[in-house]
Amino acid sequence: MSQKEAWVYTNDLEEQGMIYPLLQEANIPFVEFGPTSEEGTPYLEYNHFRFDGIDAIKDFVEQWKKEERAIKKVVREWMERMRRAYETRQSGSSDYDIDCPVCGGCRDISYYPDKGWQNTNRDCSFTFPGHLMPPTPDEFRAYLEHEGLQQRIEMFLNSE
Ligand SMILES: [Zn+2]
Repeated sequence: MSQKEAWVYTNDLEEQGMIYPLLQEANIPFVEFGPTSEEGTPYLEYNHFRFDGIDAIKDFVEQWKKEERAIKKVVREWMERMRRAYETRQSGSSDYDIDCPVCGGCRDISYYPDKGWQNTNRDCSFTFPGHLMPPTPDEFRAYLEHEGLQQRIEMFLNSE
């Protein structure tokens, strides 16, 4: 289970003024966890990793943005495949699975009605963060059907 928010430890407003805008700009959810235990540099904790100091926190933000782009890319690729399958009425079973954005595993992530999107690769610990959870295959299919319906309706509404 991945952590929902980054935990930030700072000593004063000046440190917060350097760190908060970085996290806000990247839409990273975070909570202030109070002062550092010893009079030390500010740090951030996320999923059992600790990032000490401003430079390490900047690296964390860059890493976060990179992973978000990678996640959006594999989900977009999956959606294009699902759309092709829907339009051509032809699909293989693996068309319904998503590539792993972290290790690059092909079709590693499958949807199970009782468990949601699950990584089937035991060597990789990637799970979708809540704010980037893809729709279920059924939800996306409903979206495609809705698009088809909209086109049929607009054909009449926009006619002479
Ligand atoms: Zn993976």
